[in-house]
Amino acid sequence: MSVAENIEYINSRLPETTKLLAISKYHPASLIKEAYDAGQRIFGESREQELTQKQAELPKDIEWHFIGHLQTNKVKYIAPYVALIHSVDSIRLMEEIDKQAKKCGRVIDCLLELHVAQEETKFGFSFDDVRQLYKDGVLAQYPNVRVRGLMGMASYTDDKLQVRREFASIYALYSEVREKYDANVDTLSMGMSGDWKIAVEEGSTMVRIGSFIFGDRV
Ligand SMILES: *Cc1c(COP(=O)(O)O)cnc(C)c1O
Repeated sequence: MSVAENIEYINSRLPETTKLLAISKYHPASLIKEAYDAGQRIFGESREQELTQKQAELPKDIEWHFIGHLQTNKVKYIAPYVALIHSVDSIRLMEEIDKQAKKCGRVIDCLLELHVAQEETKFGFSFDDVRQLYKDGVLAQYPNVRVRGLMGMASYTDDKLQVRREFASIYALYSEVREKYDANVDTLSMGMSGDWKIAVEEGSTMVRIGSFIFGDRV
């Protein structure tokens, strides 16, 4: 299937409340252009240099999201244009995004990245960290950052029930945040090529899909 057909396949199965973020990391600009010509406008990258290059080269109405681990010394390069940072995993990073956003005269939309228990990665906040950040009013100290919600990844496993349980628990925290702390929170980023259908059933508002659209990364 072509890039356009893959995008159409996904879009025809997403509810209106769920957006498709096309993950274009490691893929050439020509392939991104194919997706763009099929109507896709939101793309995600995980490395600052690659993102900055592609942003310069590709059409200016693309909305660029950052999804990977972001080093604080790289924030300044993406701050002028990035639309949503999915991977805020420390207060130190939030502080830097706030500082660079202010320099650009922007408020940058961000998501708090959750650390899900069974996962290998060392990055992300625990569920209790997230509750504490809201309870202590920490997020209010960064006026040039707007936390729009949460990003989570399920464990890398074939156990579909476990994946579903993890997405359900992430959704439960998302609902709790909306009800108790911030009614403006509206984004729950979860679901990748292998598990997006489950993520959508469990309440995802944004799926991050790479290899299913573009094929294997080069
Ligand atoms: C690479 C990546 C994706 C996309 O993964 P696919 O399996 O290719 O769909 C989604 N989210 C994050 C955080 C990623 O790093």
